[in-house]
Amino acid sequence: MQPLYDVVIVGGGPAGLTAALYTARRKLRTLIISKDLGGQAATTTVIENYPGVGAVDGFELMQRFRDQAVSYGAEFVLGDVHTLKPLSGGAFTVGYNTEQVQSRSIILAFGLTPRSIGVPGEANLVGKGVTYSTALLADTLHNKTVAVVGGGNSAIESVNLLADIAKQVYLIHRRDRFRAETILLDKMEQQANVTKVLNAELKQVHGTDRITGITITQLVNQQTQHLKVDALCINVGFMSRTGFLDGLVAMNDKHEIVIQADCTTNLSGVFAAGDITTSNYKQVVVSAGEGCKAALACYTYLGKKDGKDVSIDQDWEVTTGHHFIRS
Ligand code: NAP
Repeated sequence: MQPLYDVVIVGGGPAGLTAALYTARRKLRTLIISKDLGGQAATTTVIENYPGVGAVDGFELMQRFRDQAVSYGAEFVLGDVHTLKPLSGGAFTVGYNTEQVQSRSIILAFGLTPRSIGVPGEANLVGKGVTYSTALLADTLHNKTVAVVGGGNSAIESVNLLADIAKQVYLIHRRDRFRAETILLDKMEQQANVTKVLNAELKQVHGTDRITGITITQLVNQQTQHLKVDALCINVGFMSRTGFLDGLVAMNDKHEIVIQADCTTNLSGVFAAGDITTSNYKQVVVSAGEGCKAALACYTYLGKKDGKDVSIDQDWEVTTGHHFIRS
């Protein structure tokens, strides 16, 4: 049976959607399979550092990415990919939900999953006041008391968003130093209703049908403190869910997919881009750039397989640059 698609892209965030734009424009039959639209970027209320766009709602930006890819012929389906099987002849079967498709190549771009802390009460109260995506809950938090855990960009962005909405925001962080960008930290410092609880760890989440409070411990003296809160936003980073690729695609000890500079993996015909890869700096703009690279590497791979001249390497001449020096 002929593979249905030239490329199946797993993941519909900035990396996957950009890859789809590029493969579709090169007339590769492209299918994006993603469990949501936009991944982590779509859960961000305001993205302020995507160049040329200004401040934009993350979900809206991701809709624009998808619409642009689809306008060039890419297909988009919602689905949770659970299997990837190489076939003889170099094609692949991709299993998602209860469906299967075949493709000549694969671009893995499914990002990361929010990390949980694993304290008592946390798992039971997800969706009942505990969230890993502040933007999805923010509308319900007017005039409420909210705690945020974490010290990276996600946590401080949550605090700044909530400070405009909620009555009181507690930021709980296990150190007294932050990973977040200075511009976000400066904004937080200006918020009168934010209380920082530093060198402290979340120990328990209380509530049955709904969260009622949390217990935290001060790391210096092990003193515990109970805070009444209406919601808890956990922003302690992300982890990879690459189990279905074990033994197939090389990963590092953090289960990130190992890629070369052109987004190729160790497995011929499989490319990867974005937060799920070993590349540093998990940013929307970096993911989009990598999606482009993965798409062009994939196009080159398929073209060579078909015996076509698909060279898209640079063709400029190298100069020494001495003519820039003025006497
Ligand atoms: P992150 O940068 O990995 O930060 C995670 C934070 O959670 C750290 O402060 C860490 O503490 C803390 N933490 C980790 N495990 C914990 C645990 N078990 N208990 C308590 N605290 C724990 O994660 P992120 O903030 O979600 O950001 C992820 C990536 O997305 C980053 O590359 C970030 O730059 C990017 N991002 C960018 C933007 C933007 O550009 N606007 C927005 C959001 C995210 P320690 O510091 O002590 O390790």
